[in-house]
Amino acid sequence: QTTRPTFKRVVLKLSGESLSHAGERGIGMEEVVHIASQIQQAQQLGCQIAVVVGGGNILRGAQFKGTSASIQEATAHYMGMLATVINALALQDALESLNCATRVMSAIRMDGVAEPYIRRRAHRHLEKGRTIILAAGTGSPFVTTDTAAAQRALELEADILMKATRVDGVYSDDPERNPHAVLYSELDYKTVRERNLRVMDSTAIAQCMEHNMPILVFNFRKDGNIQRAVRGEKVGTRITS
Ligand code: UDP
Repeated sequence: QTTRPTFKRVVLKLSGESLSHAGERGIGMEEVVHIASQIQQAQQLGCQIAVVVGGGNILRGAQFKGTSASIQEATAHYMGMLATVINALALQDALESLNCATRVMSAIRMDGVAEPYIRRRAHRHLEKGRTIILAAGTGSPFVTTDTAAAQRALELEADILMKATRVDGVYSDDPERNPHAVLYSELDYKTVRERNLRVMDSTAIAQCMEHNMPILVFNFRKDGNIQRAVRGEKVGTRITS
């Protein structure tokens, strides 16, 4: 078994719920430290890691769709982007407590707490071996951090976009409801779109498909999985053309 990573540079999409206790909202420090130590182990293999962090454990803009006349949906999306910054700061401290050099870069300027996201600077951090946490998604409302992850994977020339989820990969149906759902080990983009499989949002899939960015969907709850994934070991579902 090789110790060198197969993937030199990855974008890792972490949903907000990976930072909270199962079934709860908000931030669970135990979960944050668990994810951080997995990221640190993968980074120690020599893999350059850009984490795109979600905010669903705190707030999703779409929750407010049509429910509140006093909070506009666009405003709620900005609130969601700010939620990702809260998560990013928690993850940064957890990583640094493990001696992993980390920078938070925000797509919405917030000079007191994070660097602005500048593509060339992000490249530089990665080359220097710093893990970067990309907060505030794309900086624009009405999309999700999946779209941000696809976008960053392309512009940072990642080898693969890794999406960490709470199930083992992509299934034919929702595995938490249907015990007969089948886990796919490989898929192509076309099948994902035709069967409407729940992988990432459709904009993200379309972008990866158009630019041939491979996607790996895998379970973040299994210890060592991030490390296995960057080594190119068989985990989760791999989606290519
Ligand atoms: N969001 C946005 N633009 C972006 C990224 C995120 O408006 O580029 C908002 C959107 O409302 C989203 C929320 O931030 O629901 C939190 O992100 P997401 O739902 O992707 O978090 P996750 O489900 O990954 O935890």
